[in-house]
Amino acid sequence: MSKEHRTASAEETEALAARLASELRAGDVVLLAGDLGAGKTTFVRGASRALGYTGPVTSPTFTIGRRYPGRDVQIAHLDLYRLGSLAGEEPGLLDDYVGPGTITFVEWPEVAEGELSASALTVRMSHTGGDGRLIAVE
Ligand code: ADP
Ligand code: MG
Repeated sequence: MSKEHRTASAEETEALAARLASELRAGDVVLLAGDLGAGKTTFVRGASRALGYTGPVTSPTFTIGRRYPGRDVQIAHLDLYRLGSLAGEEPGLLDDYVGPGTITFVEWPEVAEGELSASALTVRMSHTGGDGRLIAVE
């Protein structure tokens, strides 16, 4: 998928995420960077729908992650915001959420820098005014 995209609504972001999802393979890790409200969870929702999961997609609140069953893969959705830092956490904390049968989406990935696959795809999301968002895929 090409590099820079602009969306004007949550629906457009979900549709873009669905297109990206069609290019993903089991084992892939997608890091979602961007401020609060940038649309990271919205992006994961669109991608998860495209991967065959029809249930609710919201940011994990009481755990760092959730798993959703997709059509052909497991989907993992991590939100590391509350973690602050991986220092002091149990080793292997992320292991349940990353693996060969899973496509993993990570909100606030900066927290786990180095722990997450170096080959991960990064999606950077930012506000461009109103409902506008700039979404860069690296
Ligand atoms: P984050 O997880 O980055 O904090 P969310 O996806 O939870 O962000 O929230 C984004 C909010 O912004 C939602 O209320 C969504 O409906 C709204 N929104 C408005 N325009 C867009 C857009 N272009 N892309 C994504 N979300 C948008
Ligand atoms: Mg979120």
